[in-house]
Amino acid sequence: MNLAKSSALPASSAQAARGARGGAPLTGWASAVLAWLALVSAALAPACASTAPTTVVAPEPPEPPAPAGPPLTVQVVDVGQGDGLIVLSPTGKSIMIDAGDRGKHAPMLRQLAEDGVTTLDLVVMSHPHADHIGGMQKVLEKVPTKAFVDPGFDYSSGIYADLLAHLEASGTKVLIARRGRRIDIGGGASLEVLWPVEPLLRGTRSDANSNSVVLKLVYGTTSMLFTGDSEAPTENGLLDDPESLHADVLKVAHHGSEHSTQDRFLAAVRPYIAVISCGEDNKFGHPALSTLEKLERSGVQVLRTDLSGTITLVSDGERWTTGVERGSVAAAPQVEVVDRGARRARAAAPAPAADKLDINVATAEDLRAVDGIGVAKAKAIIAYRDAHGPFGTMGELTRVDGIGAKTAAKIAEKFEVRGDGGLVDDAEPYPAEGPPGPEGETTP
Ligand SMILES: [Zn+2]
Repeated sequence: MNLAKSSALPASSAQAARGARGGAPLTGWASAVLAWLALVSAALAPACASTAPTTVVAPEPPEPPAPAGPPLTVQVVDVGQGDGLIVLSPTGKSIMIDAGDRGKHAPMLRQLAEDGVTTLDLVVMSHPHADHIGGMQKVLEKVPTKAFVDPGFDYSSGIYADLLAHLEASGTKVLIARRGRRIDIGGGASLEVLWPVEPLLRGTRSDANSNSVVLKLVYGTTSMLFTGDSEAPTENGLLDDPESLHADVLKVAHHGSEHSTQDRFLAAVRPYIAVISCGEDNKFGHPALSTLEKLERSGVQVLRTDLSGTITLVSDGERWTTGVERGSVAAAPQVEVVDRGARRARAAAPAPAADKLDINVATAEDLRAVDGIGVAKAKAIIAYRDAHGPFGTMGELTRVDGIGAKTAAKIAEKFEVRGDGGLVDDAEPYPAEGPPGPEGETTP
């Protein structure tokens, strides 16, 4: 894997750090080599120092261990009744999804400090309800963000208006989430926007909930679905493409309320782990008993912030390891999930031709072995790779200055895309230097 390469987000200011509460390491991507070493050693360390003993869910005979990638960490922060999540990418990008209710900025700030994050690379607001953005402005005043993703619909609230004014005053770039967008967060990891779609849902029980930003985080063979407070109408729309929904980890929508997580939605997602963010003894009765029963029937491991505090999930690209802040083994075990199906499928795939080299680690000298590649073209290929990150496909070579289809075909005879470079598809990404997108500067 070529981990020292750029991604679509601006450089992170996060420094290498390890959260005392089991947060995974962060790396400043500018110091790529040191960062890589730090990540490798961190990947070998326990994912969560303060958690209960490991229970491995392994119904099948063990398979040979696969090489692990640098960690990607998701923290479902205990913000009481509400949502506040932090994603730390394999290259140290920091992304915050929602930030808890009014007065709940403290746990978010504490977690960001433990993670060593002083500037966020991206903030996603799932929807403008107070239990998701009430604490956001206070967080952003201390830890600013380089970019902000908004669901893009009108919503009248003082908190939201103040937040938008703050973003404008601080010159933060705002972009609108719409299905089909993809955000490269580095190291082969990406966030795909699955919802909302145009036209936006109208006349539902809660249009703000129903038009929540739904994101799918993909890293290696692992994935997680972030659902905001989406409800049944959202799920019905998402089910138009059920394959896109599968994820190992499901952030259960709307704090586990009865208005979300329909059986057929759960059947499409097929998660191993479900995370519910909700407050102890909250007045809404979240999570609903019916939702818990559905999850139990599906054999999903449920983790809840009201029972376990902040929940940490770490993926090495092949498996998830989870840790909790508090609680017994029975209430919140640490679980390791291995995506055996995906691994098998990959094992069954034709082995790469032995004489082909990985284009994403090729040196100038390697490249010059190709007929028609001189010093200048070899340099251009490497410069492009440095600027844009690993090649996702060999076809991408034609975007390099001076490389046409003919030369790209010649290069493809000797080189191929391996590892995480191949995970990035050709879906429409946000612009290379981040937001604003084509519909850019607008805010609702
Ligand atoms: Zn909510």
